[in-house]
Amino acid sequence: MKSRYPLVDIAGTPSEMGVLHGKQLADRIHLTARFMREKIGPEPYEACWEDFQQTVCHCRKYVPWLIQEMEGIAKGADIPFREVFLINAHLDLNVWKRVVWDCPKEESSACSSHALTTEDEVYLAWNGDDWTGWLDCGAVVRGKPDDGIPFVYWSLAGSVGRPGMNSHLALGANSLPSPEWHAEGLLYPILSRLLLSCQSAGESVALLQSNKSCSAMNYMVADKDGDLVDIEVGSDSIALRKPPIETSHLLHTNCYLDTGLAGGTVDENTVCLRLGTARNLYREHPPGNAEEITAILSDHTGGICVHRDGAATIVSFVAEIHRGNFHVITGNPCQGSPETIDLLQDT
Ligand SMILES: [Zn+2]
Repeated sequence: MKSRYPLVDIAGTPSEMGVLHGKQLADRIHLTARFMREKIGPEPYEACWEDFQQTVCHCRKYVPWLIQEMEGIAKGADIPFREVFLINAHLDLNVWKRVVWDCPKEESSACSSHALTTEDEVYLAWNGDDWTGWLDCGAVVRGKPDDGIPFVYWSLAGSVGRPGMNSHLALGANSLPSPEWHAEGLLYPILSRLLLSCQSAGESVALLQSNKSCSAMNYMVADKDGDLVDIEVGSDSIALRKPPIETSHLLHTNCYLDTGLAGGTVDENTVCLRLGTARNLYREHPPGNAEEITAILSDHTGGICVHRDGAATIVSFVAEIHRGNFHVITGNPCQGSPETIDLLQDT
């Protein structure tokens, strides 16, 4: 049987949580930092740090506790803070390299987010599609902050957030084409972690409206009241989508669906093969539980489950918000069995 992503528990103050994260995932953090430097390239990796100083200052001003947590991660893993910050800047670093370093677009990560309400549960499901080397770098982090609500998320080791859930809501995310990069903004893992401290979809929307992002990104939030919202964060504005009338689900991949942000009308059936396929599958075979959602995430007729040279679906999860279950699969969902992580289980 293939190995699963490690599950680490962290608790306490931001610094204490960071040190616990860093100590338990030290090997994976060092490997992630090494791969990050190799994939970005040593020269741009060194050059970016000057520009990212503004980002560090911005984050330290608006979310000092998450910078303290990163400093704790660096201390626990015995690695410089810069390496931890740049792990958290993974997607933003790729945008910076393309926009500022003026490097042609190379590979990019892709994802699928699905949110669904049924009579007795609210689900948020996510496929993370990326370079297969990251399979040795990922981890599931379950946290109990002294001053906050418990959360669980999947990430590259060393990241303070990514898609996951808390006891009120669950979060998916998809990268979007980013025409600009803002040095003075918050990184994707930081915004993800802030969303995992919210208690409703409405609060999540307000958070994204009041915080600036370095790069474009789509966030999908489902809360325990069944409120589903899809938020496209563009360079200078954000757009919201709710499920159409008589529909109980929301689907998103890596294309702008908002007419304003897309720059024109979008046909959701054809704009992205994975999105069009998911729309058909939800219409023809509406899922009613986590297993049936995983079956859609495992689809090969329209490539929702990704198998390509060097790239794959490296993580897949279904969050059951009422039950507090985080069903996570390491690697392609078609080949793995879910490990069920209880959000609130005591360690
Ligand atoms: Zn597959």
